[in-house]
Formats: sequence, structure tokens, C-alpha cells
Amino acid sequence: MKSNEAITIKQSRFIKLVTYLIILTIVFYAFFNVLNKNIVFGAQVRQGYSTEINKYPGYKELIDKLKKDHPNWKFTIFYTGLDWSQVIKNETTACHGRNVVPSSRSNAWKCSVCGETPRGGSSWRCASEAAVSYYMDPRNWLNDTYIFEFENLSYNEEIQNVEGVKKIISSIKYMQGDKVTYTKTDGTKATLDKSYAQIIMEAAKQAGISPYHLASRIRQEQGAGTTPGSTATGTYTGYVGYYNFLNIKASGSTDREVIVNGLQHAKNSSWTDPEISIIQGSKVLAKNYINDGQDTLYLQKFDVDNSDGTLYYFQYMQNVSASVSEGAEVKNAYNQLGLLNSSIEFIIPVYENMPQTACQEPIDASIVTQNVKVKGTGVSVRAGTGTTTSKVATVNTGDTLLRIEIAATMNSGYYWDKVILPNGTVGYIARTYLVETTDVKNCEETVIANTTVNLRNGPGLNETTIITTLVKGQALTRIQKGQYTLNAYVWDRVKLADGRQGYIVQDYISLAGETTTETDEKTQLIKVICNSGLKIREEAGIDKKILTYVSKNEILTRTQASVSSVNGYTWDKVVTATGIEGYIARGTATEQYVEEIKNDTEPNKGTDVVVPANSDFKVQDTKLICEPATTVEVIEQKNSGKTVVVKDSKGTVVKTGNIGTGYTITINSKTYTASKLGDVNGDGNINSGDLFYTQKYLLKKIEFNDCTKKACDVNGDNNINSGDLFYIQKYLLKKTEFHI
Ligand SMILES: [Zn+2]
Repeated sequence: MKSNEAITIKQSRFIKLVTYLIILTIVFYAFFNVLNKNIVFGAQVRQGYSTEINKYPGYKELIDKLKKDHPNWKFTIFYTGLDWSQVIKNETTACHGRNVVPSSRSNAWKCSVCGETPRGGSSWRCASEAAVSYYMDPRNWLNDTYIFEFENLSYNEEIQNVEGVKKIISSIKYMQGDKVTYTKTDGTKATLDKSYAQIIMEAAKQAGISPYHLASRIRQEQGAGTTPGSTATGTYTGYVGYYNFLNIKASGSTDREVIVNGLQHAKNSSWTDPEISIIQGSKVLAKNYINDGQDTLYLQKFDVDNSDGTLYYFQYMQNVSASVSEGAEVKNAYNQLGLLNSSIEFIIPVYENMPQTACQEPIDASIVTQNVKVKGTGVSVRAGTGTTTSKVATVNTGDTLLRIEIAATMNSGYYWDKVILPNGTVGYIARTYLVETTDVKNCEETVIANTTVNLRNGPGLNETTIITTLVKGQALTRIQKGQYTLNAYVWDRVKLADGRQGYIVQDYISLAGETTTETDEKTQLIKVICNSGLKIREEAGIDKKILTYVSKNEILTRTQASVSSVNGYTWDKVVTATGIEGYIARGTATEQYVEEIKNDTEPNKGTDVVVPANSDFKVQDTKLICEPATTVEVIEQKNSGKTVVVKDSKGTVVKTGNIGTGYTITINSKTYTASKLGDVNGDGNINSGDLFYTQKYLLKKIEFNDCTKKACDVNGDNNINSGDLFYIQKYLLKKTEFHI
């Protein structure tokens, strides 16, 4: 059998080549000032501002206002060609933790599936779809304060000059003066007859990136003190005379490792003075990031540009508000520099099928779909929150209500939760008169959304909130049929694969296997049967972009069978249970990787089983390979009678708790370095941070040392590839376990 179309990200040289040609094209067009010609990025298009924007609601008014206030500003529209609800799904349910919010945020900002599970650090939580939609919707940020998250970070000689650079670095103490003094590799001092501002300007020109962005980046990496950080002093032991101002390839699990990796790269590259380091480092920055299509802060945060062959994967930060807040900081800097009215180019993304109005900030109350019972006699349901609003109904002990919002703040001494009565009346009730109860249920059957349709937290269009948009073909479980008729529709209660519930118009769902479209096309439920799982790709073909992975036994809806035969595989169009639309190779002529599920087959329930973590470990040369739950206690227990000393990667003795990758364990007189399977970032836990580091590694954005490589090779094939990424994802979903 051919190698399964499941595991290996192929760096597409072709796409890279196309990208470079396109960059040349942009430069060419910019030179002749004919930017309103189409520039094609695969299916994506960047184009000058034109009436084409009218197809995308709400943009024109906002951009016109900015143009009026700042006549020198230029707007380029980036037609992503991506469907808005697919983008949001890929940024949320396809990979929980891809976007995070601070734990201090109210529940409406947090993903209801992940809840309070830390993501990307103890004080961060997975962001809700509403929060991601709010930050990703460009229409919320097309204003004076936030527009700079869309600024083109490429070099622009019309507005960027050495005077501006001087202003940006004016607070960096070590960068002052007309000359740069540095230490040579032989330890003696030398002087460059130019200033840091001049060097940054020259580096920016050569690399084709904004010198202002470059100056800010160096400040971020090296601080503003009297000396730069250890990677740029030129005096670090073992690396005297080497400089890495932009910290290229400076990564690792300890501070020392970060510095040494960065300086080793500087040494290998012969970056022997500040000028060489900044000029060459800027070229790397340009090549890997800005010239790879991620040329605005927004695109660095939300990777909706496919010119590097991936979507959504390589995102600089998990914090969902990062580009918005950095954009606001840039605006302040430009304001202070007196540059606000210069001719600045902004690249504004648009998506297909966007909502008519901009996505709003999540409300304070938690959005829920749950039943509650009343305790109390003659309890008022009111038109609003507070005792002064009018009464719309009276309920009594034992009455069952549908609760759709849980209030976050009090009014008149009560928390007023929003409820829907069995007759469809909507109102607010004091929480003190409610008790939770089991959810109402009158059926349990698999249904399929037969169109793109909103799922709401309750029945009715006016008083409810959209939880998510379902994709045509997405499979759901119907648990309650026909209790409410509101706004001339019958509403059914359904459950998503991730456990969320909501209400949907009955006409827009069909039983699995029923004819669901005018074209008599039938949708089928299929199950993944190949051991290694499958990739879902944006289009049919093994070089197409990978959107997500599905593992063995997962259920998909096949919306179109045998779409094409490419690369020796037959391709089907499918929708995952999380609503990601894409293509899978089903095998060659027959179905090798998937099988059809009959109507009456219960979808596999095994995937919900929580797998207990394993704590075994083994010694291999100087490494101690351990499983996710290995603790100091486990190692001591298995070495009783021996002296065991465990130190974390900073060298601090650890007496209890989780072992992390990079820890050292001394048993009697022999010392081992720990590699914990899945713990790529060395924090002792397996979480989305590990997923991100693995992605970065696969995209060649960072390097790993040997013990990190061992930790990352979770499938034990002595290679780090997308297979490991896949299994770490599955581990986070509690669908697999790691064994030594
Ligand atoms: Zn989540």
C-alpha cells in the first residue's frame, strides 16, 4: 500500500517560489504606482480600494471615513477568499488554545468546551468563538485608534527615514551616539563609524522591511538599558565577539539554552559585529515572516494568508487581542513622531459570507442552554433585570424553564438570569429562585445540517444569541424535537460533538441519509478507519493546505463522494463534526481509510473516554524518557534506597510534582536529562504550548536540542513530523496516550 495520505507536511518549494515572484511583482507594481492591478496569491487577491468593497458589508463607510481624515493613507484590500465561519471554526474548535484570553475575563469570552482549563500558561484560557469573531472582524478596528494593526510592515521610503528611527530608539540607552563600539572576537574593542539609527535604516532597506518595525523589534528583543541583552553584548563566555540582535533561532527551554542557541547561530553565521548582525538578522526576519505574506500585525496574529502554504498554523501569539493592542501602541508611536498623516499603506482583509454587521464584543453574561427548575411560589419573571421592570409572567415551584444567560453582575440585590418559558415567553428571573436540573430531552438521533445555519442558545430569533454557525453537512445529535414554535419556525434542541447545546430551526436539519439538497445529493456519515488518522485538506491533492486532522473512529459527513482522483487517491468532500469543511483521501479506488456508517449505527462513543495519564519512565544513555504523568515522587519510589536529586531547567532543586523536559535527575552519582513525551516547552505539562512549539519547529522557525527532540517525537519514529503534531493534538483532546 502507498504511504497513507495522513502524515507529512511538505514544504512546497513551488509555493515559496511563487511567493518570491509575487513579492517581486509587488515591488515592480509599487515602483510604477499601479497597485490597483490584481495581484494574485493562489486563490487570494490583493487589490487596490475599489467599488468591489461594496460586496462586503460595512467596510466602505469605515474606510471612507479614514480616507477623509487622512488623505495620504492608502488602502489595499486583501480578498482572502476564505469563508468567514470556516475561518472562525479553524481559529477555535479546530484547535483549542489557538486563541486565548486572560483568565480574568468573564465566561462569555472563554470557550465553553475548555472552560477554566489553562491554555498557553496558567493565566490564560481558550477564547470563545464570540471573542475570536470580535477580534478577527476587521470592521471593529477600522478606526483611528486601531488601524495600525493593518499597517504594511514592508519598507516604504516615502515615510520611513533615519530621523524617525532616531525617535523610536531615543529611549534605548545603549543605542545613543554617532558611533557603535563593540568587542571583537579576539576580545579587543573596535568602533563602527556610524550610528545604530543608520545601521537599522540600512538593514531595513536591504531586507525590504519597515525600519520602524525593525527598531521596535530590536527594542523588544534587547531592551532599552545601558547594554543590550546577553545575545548582543559580544562578551558572553564562549561567544566573545558574536552578536544576534534579533535573537534569530534563540530558543530553548532555559534562559541559558536560549542565549547559547542564539549565539551559536551568530557564530555559525559569522555575525561578528552589530552591523552584520542587524543587517543579516533583518533578512532572516523578512524572509521567514514579513515576506511570507504575514506582513501586518493582524496577519502575524491571524494567519489567513496562504502564501507560505499553510493557513492558521503559524501565528506569533496566542493572545487573541495581541495585534489590536500592538496596533494601538504603534499608533501612539507614530503620533509622537508626527507621522500620522504620512502616506501609509494598510492591508485590510475581507472574508466571504461575513455577517451584515460587525461581530460584537461578547456580552458580560454567560451564554448557556440549560434547564432550571423554579423553587418558590409566585416568582416574577420580568422584562428586564431589576425589580422595577415590568412583570411578564409568574412561575411556581417545579416549573421547568430554559435558561439562556447567566448574569455576571447584580441588580437590585439579585443576579437576573435570562430564561425562556415553555410557551416561548422570554424574561429575567432572580437566580435565588432557581435550581439546576437535568436537561429536557425527548429524542436522541443523528441529524445533519442541510444548509449553513446559525445555532442559537435558545429558540427564537430576537432574544437569543448565536453560539456558532453550522456548516452544511455538519453532524449533530437532536435531543428535543418541536417544543417551541417561534418566529414562524419550529425549533429543535441539538448537541454538538464537543458537548455544546443549542437550538436550530427544524427545517434546516435532516436525518442522516435523507435527501438534503435540491440536487438530490445525498450526504453520508462515514467513520475514519485507518490507524494513523487522516488529514483534512483545503482542496483535493496531497500538496494542498492541511486544515486539521481526524483520528481513527472519528465521524465525518461526506457531502460529495469521489470529487476527484489526484496523486493516486480518490478524494471526498467532507465536513468534520466540528464543522471544518475540506477534502480527504479515502484511499485508492476502494474505501481504505473510511467506511460508511449505516443510519442506525450509533456514532462511536469511545472517543469521549478520558484516558488516564501514564507515569512510567526509562533510562536511555544519559536521557531519562518519561510519560506525561511522571513526577519526582514516581522516580523516587522506583529508586528507593538510592539518592535521587531532581533539578528543574534553571538548576533549582525540585522536591515534588511533575518532571519537565530539560530537568536533570541525579540517581546516586549518575545524572540524566529528562525528556517527557509531549512536553516540548519543558513546563512539565502537555498543553497547547507544546502544540505551538511543535508547529514552529515543523515550519523551521525554531530549533530543538536533543532532549526536546526526544520529547517531541511522541510516536517514537525517530523523526519529528506532522505525525507528532497530530498525536499531541489528540492527546490534548484525551483521545490518545503516550507510552515510553
Ligand atoms: Zn476551547
